[in-house]
Parts: sequence; C-alpha cells; structure tokens
Amino acid sequence: MIVVLSKNISGHDKDIIRVYLKDRGFSVREQFFGEEAVIGATGKGVADIRELGLLPGVERVAQTSKPYELASRETQSADTIVSVGPVKIGGSRITVIAGPCAVESREQIQETAERVRESGAVMLRGGAYKPRTSPYAFQGLGMKGLEFMKEAGEALNMPIVTEVVSPEFADQMKDLTDMFQIGARNMQNFELLKKVGSLGMPVLLKRGPSATMEEWLMAAEYLLASGTKDVVLCERGIRTFETYTRNTLDISAIPVVKKLCHLPVIVDPSHAVGIRGKVSPAALAAIAAGADGLTVEVHPRPDEALSDGMQSLFPEQFERLMRDIEALAPVVGKELLRTPLFAPPTDTVVPKSKPPTDTAPQDAPVAFSGDSGSYAEQALMRVFGDDAARLSCGSFQAVFDAVLDGSASAGVVPIENSLTGSIHENYDLFLRYPDIAIVGEVTRRITHCLIADERASIDDIRVVRSHPQGFEQCREFLSKHPDWEQQPSVSTATAAASIAREGATRIAAIAGEEAAKVFSLKVLKYGIETNPLNYTRFAVIARRGADGVPLVPPSLGSAPPSKASLVFSVTDEPGSLFACLKILTEKGLNLSKLESRPIQGQPWTYLFYTDVTIPGDESLFQSVLTELKAKTKDFYLLGIYR
Ligand code: PEP
Ligand code: MN
Repeated sequence: MIVVLSKNISGHDKDIIRVYLKDRGFSVREQFFGEEAVIGATGKGVADIRELGLLPGVERVAQTSKPYELASRETQSADTIVSVGPVKIGGSRITVIAGPCAVESREQIQETAERVRESGAVMLRGGAYKPRTSPYAFQGLGMKGLEFMKEAGEALNMPIVTEVVSPEFADQMKDLTDMFQIGARNMQNFELLKKVGSLGMPVLLKRGPSATMEEWLMAAEYLLASGTKDVVLCERGIRTFETYTRNTLDISAIPVVKKLCHLPVIVDPSHAVGIRGKVSPAALAAIAAGADGLTVEVHPRPDEALSDGMQSLFPEQFERLMRDIEALAPVVGKELLRTPLFAPPTDTVVPKSKPPTDTAPQDAPVAFSGDSGSYAEQALMRVFGDDAARLSCGSFQAVFDAVLDGSASAGVVPIENSLTGSIHENYDLFLRYPDIAIVGEVTRRITHCLIADERASIDDIRVVRSHPQGFEQCREFLSKHPDWEQQPSVSTATAAASIAREGATRIAAIAGEEAAKVFSLKVLKYGIETNPLNYTRFAVIARRGADGVPLVPPSLGSAPPSKASLVFSVTDEPGSLFACLKILTEKGLNLSKLESRPIQGQPWTYLFYTDVTIPGDESLFQSVLTELKAKTKDFYLLGIYR
C-alpha cells in the first residue's frame, strides 16, 4: 500500500501516519517519486483505508495489487531512469556495458576497457569476486582486482559495475565501484539484498536461474525497500530442460517485466547462451524485444580467459554487435547511448589550426521547430537528454537564427526522410547560414498517427492538419480519404496543438503518439505512414566560433568524427563531376549520399550534396578536401560529425 503525502505535510503529521501504520503491523518507508513524497507500507498489516485517507497530510492512499509495491508500475507509471555517474540507463536509450567475466590482471582489464570503449560501451563490467560452481575454479582477484578495474574505468571515463557476493564485502567495495551487481546465484540472498540496498547506490540485479518474474521483482523490492532507488534488472537466462545452451534466454520476460515494473531491464546474452557465436543474435533479439541495454562479456583473448572464455566475444565481434545495435535502435524507437562523457572536442579536420576562441553558450537551450511533442523535439531529447532545456521555434529558419544569435546553444533540424527524400529547405538554409555547421546526427523512426479530440470519430473528420512532410509520408492513407481538406502546419505537434486549442471534433492531425499525449488527444489510427520503414535523419547544428571551428556541445561527447557532409558545384565541362568522385574513389572514401539540386537564381546549374565516410586517418581526409577544393567551383563543408 502506498500513502501519498500532501506537498506541505508537517513532520508531526508524518509521524502520526507512521505510527498509525506501524501500530497496524506495517513496515513503513518514506520515498520520493518525482515531486511526490510517499510512505510505502509493506508487510501483513491491516488498516482501514478510509480512516487512513482522512488523516491530516494524506493526499491519497493507493492500494497496489502486487506484492512488489515499490517496484510496481501501479505505484509509478513513468520509467525509472537510473544514473550511474554520467551514464543513464532506461527511457529511450540503449546502454551497453561490456568487459571481461573476471578481472585477471591490471593489463587485461585495461586492454579490455580500451577495446570495448572504442566500440562504444559506456560502462565497464568485470568480476573481482567470482561465484564459481567449483571451489577449485578461479575465484577472482578480490579487492586487488577491483582496484585494477577502478583504475581502468577512471582512465577511460567509464563507470564500473562489479559483483558483490557477500554482505561483509559491501562496505569495503562501495568506494571503489560505481554500481553493485547482485549475481544470479545470490538473487534471493536476502541479507545481501538488504545490505546492498541500504548503501543507496545503483544496483544491477540479475535474475536467478530458476526465479519466476515475481520472485525477481520481489528481490528488487528488497533493494528498493532497503534504501536504494536505482535498481536495474538483468535477464541472464533461466534454467530449462534445454542443455545445448548454458541457459535459456527468456525473451518474453523483457516486455512482461517492463509492463509490471518501472525499473530498466537489461539483458546479459553471454550467460544466457554461453556460446560465443550465438551471443550477438541473442543480444539483438533482446534489443528488439525492448531491453534498455546489455551487459556483454568481452575478452581480448577469450581462449586464455580464466573464466567464461567460451562465451566471451572477441573485441572485433563486439564492435560488429555495436554497429548492428546502432542500426536496429531506431526500429524500436531508441538510440544507442554513445560516450556521454565530456572530453574536449577532438581536433576538427577543417580548419585544423587553432581551438575555438569563443565558447558556445552552454547553458542556453537547444532549439527545435514546432511545438512540444514534435519528432524534432524527441530527436533532441535523444541527443541532449530528457531534461535538456528546449526552445521551441516557429520555423526551421528560426532554429538557425536562434543558434546563430546564441539564444540556443545548438539546434536540431530534419534533413532527410527515408520515404520522401531530402528536406531541401534545411539544406538550402545551410548555404544561407555559413556560420552554422552540422555537428551531429540522429536517426529516428517516424510512426505517424491520426489523432483527434477525445470525442471525435474517424467518420466525422473533414479536415486534417500536419507538416507537409506528414502528408507526404502518409500519402497512401490520405488517398483513402480524398474529401479531407489538408491544412499545413509548422510541425506535426503544432497541428495537434491547434486541435487541442480549438476543441474541434471534425479536425484531425497527423502527428506522433507523443504529441497525442502532450495535448491529451486520442489516437484514431496508429501507424498510417505509407511504409513502416520510415526514418528521419536529424542534423544537430551549432554555431562556428570566430576561427570557423564549430562549438560542439559537450553532450555530443568526444568520439572521433565518422562522416562529413559536403556541397559543391563543378565547372560546365565533360567529366568535371567524375573528376571529383574519382578523388574519393582513389582515396577509398565511401560516398553514402549524392544528390543534385538546382542553384537558386542560376537556372540549369546544380549543387551536389554529398555525404562521405571519414577514414580513421584524418590527415587523409584533409588531403581529399584540398584536392576536392581545387577541382570544384563552389565548395562548402557543412560539417564533420559522428
Ligand atoms: C557475471 O555476470 O559474471 C555472472 C556471474 O553472472 P550470473 O550471476 O548471471 O551468472
Ligand atoms: Mn561470467
């Protein structure tokens, strides 16, 4: 049972409620859910709910139907986002933890950390104390191993997670680790759960090999009831009759537990499958099923590993898995969390000279076009976090203006859609705003809905509003309603906002589910885009400093650039475009986009918009740029970014 307290409750009234509950056989614990202070009453007590509800300072009493009250979605409907240092787990991100099964030596953990960090892991795992089936197997290096791991994590700005096998070790471990892992074998070691929970630190709770989902959630309840609020659940395979794999990955547990409970759920495909070659497919299945992240065993030389070598990935396999996750993430509406840790921007390729002389207004908001609930706003939150300060603008150009005049530290604008092609308005704006550069990119799956007032029905609709892109992407659906008048808006969310404001029942909007939520509208039809493989690429834009180097927002991280967007025109003679492309071919640079576009005011002359993959060797790219500039008529570098 949950007693929600009123905002201004006095300490005295709180005491009365506590005593009331304790007298009736409950254990009580105060907790905060966002703004709300609640007292969780657990145990076998009996109380008169009506009488309790009338006590001074009680806002309402919520009875949950689940024995895991603090973990239950009934108690908290929003996803819990767990922070481990600068790394977040939960919400719309996919967080990948990687590292060896066990810390074996200082060099081994450092090397592994470097390799997995390079591929994009944001946290480091490794066992210092190992729970082994055989007493004769390697038991871990203990505290010494943890010291090595802390050192490796700190050197690379990666928070670490390690298993605690006994309550007596917890105190000495707490200053060296960022997150505790409770291993599968210890999931129901209640004294361990109580002790670790009471330290208030983030905990990764593995599911026991034969634990039901409810037993697992009850173990989480122990942790929450003991004092921590940062619990991440980890499905790692359960015991079944199957012996081919080490365990059986319970994929169905992911959506079920996420429905029952607000805590993030990640998956350990390594212990689930136990066979190196089968780890990556299982990991991808977990992401497809809605997992908030993974913890994966990686070893630089798995054949020499002191434990779990059979299931440890080679670093190259892990790198490939990360690339596959990146490709899969937008399908499930998520983004792979990349190094969110600030380090100064890497030496930018052009111009290579000085560092920025002025700084970006870092505390200024990030601009996007349209109202709250727009796709651009969601893309923005992916990059800058759910709590990022945001500035809603009336047009794409207003986003460029806000970034240029410093009222925004950065902006997010759509540049290409997989169904309808380039958003030319924004490509044209880049040419008109040479002081704005592309500094990042984010791809988002776009699922359009027909949304309207609570009282509306699809048969009554006469008018539909959306951004012109919304109409374009839902052409097939709209062709079934030829009598609907189409009214364009600044953004899909702006269309939704206008309907909510007018309370109209004959007007619908084409917008995302998020916009329906923001404006309390009803989804009349979900998924009306012509093809479900509907993705939009958004560019993150920032102002260039005095020396031309873009002022990259720190939240974009420090990963080296992998892509460049260029625009150029060529002379009007045979072979001039071929000569430019030849430079790229000869240097082995992959061209991922090439599009021609008429130059405004110069009929029948064209600009070529190109995206190229940047090689690891930046000086090579630098020389390509010099050669290209010599061969082209006009040349603009829109940005180099990841
Ligand atoms: C581990 O993560 O190293 C481990 C021992 O996992 P589990 O407790 O899931 O077996
Ligand atoms: Mn292991």
